[in-house]
Amino acid sequence: ASRSMASAAQQTAIGQYNGTKNSQGNYEVTLIPGDGIGPEISRSVERIFSAAQVPISWESVDVTPVLRDGKTVIPDEALHSILRTKIALKGPLATPIGKGHVSLNLTLRRTFNLYANVRPCKSVPGFATHYSNVDTVLIRENTEGEYSGIEHEVVGGVMQSIKLITRPASERVARFAFAHAIATGRNHVTVVHKANIMKLSDGLFLQACQEVAKDFPQVQFDEVLLDRACLQIVQDPAQYANTVMVMPNLYGDILSDMCAGLIGGLGLTPSGNIGRDASIFESVHGTGPDIAGLDKANPTALLLSSCMMLRHMNLNSFADRIESAALSTIAEGKAITADLGGKASNTQFTDAIISKL
Ligand code: NAD
Repeated sequence: ASRSMASAAQQTAIGQYNGTKNSQGNYEVTLIPGDGIGPEISRSVERIFSAAQVPISWESVDVTPVLRDGKTVIPDEALHSILRTKIALKGPLATPIGKGHVSLNLTLRRTFNLYANVRPCKSVPGFATHYSNVDTVLIRENTEGEYSGIEHEVVGGVMQSIKLITRPASERVARFAFAHAIATGRNHVTVVHKANIMKLSDGLFLQACQEVAKDFPQVQFDEVLLDRACLQIVQDPAQYANTVMVMPNLYGDILSDMCAGLIGGLGLTPSGNIGRDASIFESVHGTGPDIAGLDKANPTALLLSSCMMLRHMNLNSFADRIESAALSTIAEGKAITADLGGKASNTQFTDAIISKL
């Protein structure tokens, strides 16, 4: 028993932040403003952080992909910055659709082995949606599954994409889910799977979670089939309140957008990509090409991602202050952006948040 407790404690440390301070005593953080509305919402976060006197220094980098030996790679400047600071805030990046393009988001996840994608989904008080009691955290395995990029044409007219599930990646994300539950005061972990159909791949993921659960006897553990989880969440999200849900890559991608819909859309949902050597925090939404450059974007998702980042860096009091200023601005409803039903520009919304700090 003591061996398993020691290993659990050791593993809890995986993904913890150990960045360094610069000569002014500030933590250095890499900022990837991104494409489309990315630079506008990044600027909003910069302004709010500066008004709240958060003790960090931004290092802004460009991640426009570079082709090297036929492969899409991250420019060296950005790579070195993240390797050095170990932490980044990232705006959305445009992903061209079609053959020959590699998603830069996927490239970042692979390059830094960002193995756990954390997506909290919590109702925003004062912002009315069908439900007011959504409060779950989804943890998505971020490195394999259907996103392994192993695809080929078997014969003409027959394509095959491989879903890859390995024991080490499954165990690692399961451990992270339990450690995250404990660190955030949640007492329940649920694994979401389809092991009834994919007996080998999802079966292995489920088995890894069941084994890791034995190291965390203080956390309740159960399992649910993906289809059943979808039905239950849309019927009564309270069933998953106070729970951390952990699942393979594709299921997490889909389920988290569904949960985002329950709380009022993509403008409100943050995320964190946790890795052993670096972590990258980003909004769940994309580049908003239809509103880019118009000062209409809602910066909340990126701002809440930046608050997750501050908590990851142990700067909780700054995160609490910024989050409560943003949430009370939304609850008040006077200076909110169009996606939330208001008339304010991004700049006016940002000014209102700053006035409440
Ligand atoms: P999108 O999320 O950019 O836009 C969907 C809709 O939501 C649009 O009407 C948009 O205006 C609106 N919206 C999104 N964010 C908003 C915000 N902060 N405030 C107000 N409205 C907001 O999705 P899309 O159009 O499917 O994708 C556009 C591009 O973004 C694509 O190239 C896609 O690959 C990329 N993308 C990147 C990421 C990422 O970098 N993590 C994630 C998703 C999509």
